[in-house]
Amino acid sequence: MAQKNNVAMINLILFGPPGSGKGTQAQLLEEKYNLHHISTGDLFRYELTNNTELGQQARVFMDKGQLVPDAITIGMLKNKLLSLGDDKGFLLDGFPRNLIQAISLDDLMKEMNMEITALVCLNVTEEEIVARILNRGKTSGRSDDNDESIIRNRYQVYLDQTRPVFTYYEAKNRAAMIEGLGSIEEIFGRLCAYIDSLK
Ligand code: AMP
Repeated sequence: MAQKNNVAMINLILFGPPGSGKGTQAQLLEEKYNLHHISTGDLFRYELTNNTELGQQARVFMDKGQLVPDAITIGMLKNKLLSLGDDKGFLLDGFPRNLIQAISLDDLMKEMNMEITALVCLNVTEEEIVARILNRGKTSGRSDDNDESIIRNRYQVYLDQTRPVFTYYEAKNRAAMIEGLGSIEEIFGRLCAYIDSLK
């Protein structure tokens, strides 16, 4: 496991299609393992709410369910990771979303003398995803959660661009597929069993 200042660090990627439960599980994992939870979707939504230039650039892509261009996304993530400045590990949620981002993350980890411990993917079917996101849209206030065609587009983007990142980590023997159907507690239990096996 990566070491920083002699403290064992765990740096995880929580992976899976939109609506697979990453946000919910990330909050539980953040607390249990004392990690920084870094969600690029949340970082973009913060910029949108504050109507920053970055937020305005991201909005056009987010509204259509497309990926925000890599230069913007990678720059934002890099700033966030460089600002952490403590010995806590991190949990990435929603990044990397394509192979270019995965390779950039590798470069950044080398630069920072850190490494990704593992990528854990929540496995959920498309129909379950569409149902979950439409349900979430009733209260999330997210415009990209209310329109079925945008949700299906986000899923297609996942299949085309994001899923290859799983194979990339699998080739390094650092990827695990976790069943994403069941209660929040059941899924959390499966994730913890895997993470504890890494120690
Ligand atoms: P999420 O909250 O992770 O579902 O992200 C919401 C939206 O933010 C996505 O549909 C993308 O438009 C954008 N986004 C979040 N993370 C990334 C990323 N790593 N690369 C590109 N776009 C992203």
